[in-house]
Amino acid sequence: IKSVTFPNNKARHLIRAARVLTEEFGGEMPTDIDNLMKLPGVGRKTANVMLAVVWNKAAMAVDTHVFRVSNRLGLTNNSKTPLETEKTLVKYIPEELLSTAHHWLILHGRYVCKARRPDCLDCRLRDYCKSYKV
Ligand code: SF4
Repeated sequence: IKSVTFPNNKARHLIRAARVLTEEFGGEMPTDIDNLMKLPGVGRKTANVMLAVVWNKAAMAVDTHVFRVSNRLGLTNNSKTPLETEKTLVKYIPEELLSTAHHWLILHGRYVCKARRPDCLDCRLRDYCKSYKV
């Protein structure tokens, strides 16, 4: 994992997570958020990614893009925390679309609604966006 960011830290987490998995979970990966978050290095966002991507469960992982884009668009109402954003999105986005919507929001935030300079003029969501100003 040398090529990823913070490889030493992540390697330490992986070793500790492998220990916890074998000692506390019988070598099986847990499939619920509370137990996933007991694994070293796994926070709520990562646990939700695993639920959505690996087990195809209705979960919304809120990273910096999802958080920012949701607030700008008005999907959330000036949410203050990722957990608040997660709860709002889970409440209003249909269950079967949640994991796909997670990717839509990330990609929109990465390529269009960028943190410093959103490309509002080229944004196809501008007619629906709470933050769009002509
Ligand atoms: S109109 Fe601008 S602020 Fe709104 S979603 Fe598009 S890029 Fe983001």
